[in-house]
Amino acid sequence: MRKHSKEYLQNLTPYQGYELLVEGNKRFINNLQSDHDHLEMINETREGQYPFAVILSCMDSRTSTELIFDQGLGDIFSIRVAGNIVNNDILASIEYATKYIGSKVLMVLGHTECGAIKSAKAGVTDGHITALLNRIQPSIAKAMLKEEEYHQFSDNAAYANVENSLEEILTRSEIVKEMFKKGEIGLVGGVYNIETGQVDFFKNLTKRKKEPKQLINA
Ligand SMILES: [Zn+2]
Repeated sequence: MRKHSKEYLQNLTPYQGYELLVEGNKRFINNLQSDHDHLEMINETREGQYPFAVILSCMDSRTSTELIFDQGLGDIFSIRVAGNIVNNDILASIEYATKYIGSKVLMVLGHTECGAIKSAKAGVTDGHITALLNRIQPSIAKAMLKEEEYHQFSDNAAYANVENSLEEILTRSEIVKEMFKKGEIGLVGGVYNIETGQVDFFKNLTKRKKEPKQLINA
């Protein structure tokens, strides 16, 4: 079945969508990327888009989701903002991707050495930057309380910030909450390591189709 088609997306389960991201990152870190023919992709996607994932990530120039997950044009709705924070426009974009286009996986992706988190920690205030950094402050407070917790990469604030954004999306978007409850979409939290290229899929709330009540922890 053609990857960029309505039929493909309708048949893809949220868990399969999650696996596409996991496998894509494995190819990326092993330098085994697919041979992306960009002109062919333009041709394949010219009549419509059917991205299987919507990913909220940081604007950091080292964290391009298409590269990290070895995907091409038309595969990912990429929402990028400093510190992968959530606001109403971002919630609207996520709702559009999941409810109206049918993306199966919603991922929040943070990363190590995040400049926005560092600036929030340092208490930077300037222009519009102040308001954005204020949204990160609760994550920094949570990370301080969780100092002993084990994570694959030692950056508690990055992990707490991803958890915080996932929590905000689930509590503020009725659309996402309902689709998630029905198992129509999966939710994933990850942290990208800028030194190795590896993603730690530390939170996976994606239900397997045949085991609808089971929560899978990666
Ligand atoms: Zn960042």
